[in-house]
Amino acid sequence: MAAPIRHIVIVGGGTAGWMAAALLSNVLPRDRLRLTLVESPDIGTVGVGEATIPPIQFFNRAVGIDEAEFMRATEGTFKLGIAFRDWVRPGHRYMHPFGQPGQAIKGVSFHAWWLRLRTAGYTVPLSDFWLAEKLADEGRFDTPSPDARSPKSTLAYAYHFDAGLYAAYLRTIAEPRGVTRVEATVADVALDPTDGTVSHVILADGRRVDGDYFIDCTGFRALVIGQALGRPYEDWSHWLPANRAVAVPSARTRDPVPFTTATARSAGWQWRINLRHRTGNGYVYVADHIDDDQAAATLLANLDGQALADPRFLRFTTGRRTQSRYKNVLAVGLSSGFLEPLESTSIHFIQHALIKFAATFPLSKDDPLSANLYNRMIGEELEQVRDFLILHYHANQRVGDPFWDRMRHMDVPDSLAEKIALFRARGCAIFPNQTLFQEPNWLAVLLGQEVEPASYDPLADAGDLSDIRQGFDATRQIIAQTARAAPRHMDYLSRLNAGSNRRGAA
Ligand SMILES: Cc1cc2nc3c(=O)[nH]c(=O)nc-3n(C[C@H](O)[C@H](O)[C@H](O)COP(=O)(O)OP(=O)(O)OC[C@H]3O[C@@H](n4cnc5c(N)ncnc54)[C@H](O)[C@@H]3O)c2cc1C
Repeated sequence: MAAPIRHIVIVGGGTAGWMAAALLSNVLPRDRLRLTLVESPDIGTVGVGEATIPPIQFFNRAVGIDEAEFMRATEGTFKLGIAFRDWVRPGHRYMHPFGQPGQAIKGVSFHAWWLRLRTAGYTVPLSDFWLAEKLADEGRFDTPSPDARSPKSTLAYAYHFDAGLYAAYLRTIAEPRGVTRVEATVADVALDPTDGTVSHVILADGRRVDGDYFIDCTGFRALVIGQALGRPYEDWSHWLPANRAVAVPSARTRDPVPFTTATARSAGWQWRINLRHRTGNGYVYVADHIDDDQAAATLLANLDGQALADPRFLRFTTGRRTQSRYKNVLAVGLSSGFLEPLESTSIHFIQHALIKFAATFPLSKDDPLSANLYNRMIGEELEQVRDFLILHYHANQRVGDPFWDRMRHMDVPDSLAEKIALFRARGCAIFPNQTLFQEPNWLAVLLGQEVEPASYDPLADAGDLSDIRQGFDATRQIIAQTARAAPRHMDYLSRLNAGSNRRGAA
């Protein structure tokens, strides 16, 4: 039998590197497995990545993170969803809230009953039944209830945080658990000539670090998986053409809101993320449609506080490495691929990669069976999210705006075309392989982007219409009351900071 893995070397110390160190140091047997992290003092991190999605709570639990401590350490705020401004047309706004609207009735999705009511002239928007959206709109925050009868059981939430502080915080967790940190730049990667696996990395000062397994967290450089192992990159920019971003922090001018804002611009979109100590801003754009100076000027003209630094430019190509696990190397983070941050999914992909890696941990240095399984699982999740992102751009009505016309008229992947057709035909938002984004997420964006269903689930035709309407009106009132009774986001944060919130209260 081939020798088991005894030493894992993580190359890179950005968000991906330290997430890998923090998680693996908690889940792998420390008495039999060593972890070393090499990070360069000279090569910076990408320095963005401030918004997350709810599964991060699973990661935090797996690492053993205390929420209050983590929020304090990272200047964190809560996130209940994303507000999309001007995506359908200028002046339009909708939200993709986390959690779900109402609860299924007789096993039939809540929104199917709502569609039936709407067909009969009911004008109350679905958002009135979505507690996360109500809370977000009112600047309030609350945690989900484990009691299925409570309206709060429909809630889910994530975080905004300072990316640099997050990596530093994870380091304070990983190092005491035995992760050895080496501060050095990797100058070269050496392969074993007998089997093509990586044998060691050579540092700029001449030292070498040997390992059985290597985790490439070197960001867009992809030093090991790309440069040394030559794994190809599949380019998805024909569907998601944004290839630049310009980012700038600005001064905080008001209490942080518990949602991210994504505002459509002429050649892309702008994010605004409220942290406790500052606001993160950026313009994600397509270089064919706007130049860097114009993009920076647009960004700076649309801040809600004074800029705190010079604008920083980033370049990327949307796509993925089809084999992000190959031989004795796992690529995690930007080295494995990149989907633009419209739905804040990159940090999620880091945790997903690490969790799937742990679930298919290599039996030996080169374990192609486990690697193939891993690559397939990661690929399916990425394709789902790719389709979800394309939908935002494609279903627009910004007629006469060249970039938006291009996105509306482009051919979308068959997998997305089928989803849109299903939704248009019968309001169905349950699709195959729905791993990360599920029915409520697709529903929010399909309806938000004004993709209109012609019909609804026929099972929602059961029962008397006036009874259903009464039930809906009562639910709406309960949602409104629950939202009004919830603490203001800032008060919740202050109490969390002071250590006086009751966590998990119903
Ligand atoms: C514009 C933009 C906005 C984004 N917004 C979000 C968001 O809101 N939410 C989200 O989830 N994600 C977001 N992301 C993605 C997120 O920033 C990344 O997924 C995350 O920061 C992980 O980056 P990384 O650790 O892979 O790479 P990096 O942060 O670039 O870290 C690379 C590390 O490798 C080290 N390194 C590189 N070369 C060497 C070498 N030769 N020797 C030694 N060390 C080396 C560097 O020193 C550094 O420590 C965004 C990305 C972009 C581009």
